[in-house]
Amino acid sequence: MPNLPELKTLPELKTLMTRLQRHHGAPTVPPAKGPFELVMWENACYLLPDDRRAAVFEGLRTQVGLNPSAILNADKAVLLALAKMGGMRPETRVFRWLEIARITMSEFEGNLDSILKEPYNQARKALKQFPNIGDPGAEKILLFCGSSPGLPLEWNGLRVLTRVGYGRSQKNYGATYRSVQDSLRDKLPRGAAAIARAHLLLREHGQKICRNKGPLCRECPIEDLCLFAMSPRERDVLPTH
Ligand code: SF4
Repeated sequence: MPNLPELKTLPELKTLMTRLQRHHGAPTVPPAKGPFELVMWENACYLLPDDRRAAVFEGLRTQVGLNPSAILNADKAVLLALAKMGGMRPETRVFRWLEIARITMSEFEGNLDSILKEPYNQARKALKQFPNIGDPGAEKILLFCGSSPGLPLEWNGLRVLTRVGYGRSQKNYGATYRSVQDSLRDKLPRGAAAIARAHLLLREHGQKICRNKGPLCRECPIEDLCLFAMSPRERDVLPTH
């Protein structure tokens, strides 16, 4: 996305969230509870929608047990059948589930909840030992566990906020992420539940309306607040449906 001119006044995050929630409805919180389940949730499938992720996750809960020793002792054929529901490379997924269970047993005595007693940065570092969990993923897991110094963003949410005018889009993803985080400072709602809602709403909006290719600005409830939509060059190429 080309760099856009800066907005004189950034729209309030609260206003954006109110409109997005009115449009999309209250976001659905993942069924996973606690850090271990949330790490498994992140690894339940590959590039598939959340309903499929939920099906794999519930399959693990009912057919295997969502705890590290049950996963380590599970019938590998059962794990593989569930992993196949989760999309491409099922063998890699089984390997990762076993790895998650093994790390939890060996590094956390089988109880990953213990990281929630640690200082935030230490808890984040602990989570990054697990497959597919980088900084944003670790921060999101801690957010869903009630710990929230910032607003973690996956790429959909980051795209929405960048287009609206938060931060600057840059070639380097990490630099864009930091620039958006800088512009969010002091603008976040209070409390982990409100921040989790913002994370989920931005993600949903990026998936359904503010799509990477062909954002549906004319259906967007925040169009009048969005720098991208206000830019004549961008507006002229918007799709009409
Ligand atoms: S107006 Fe367009 S670019 Fe802006 S947030 Fe909505 S869909 Fe995205």
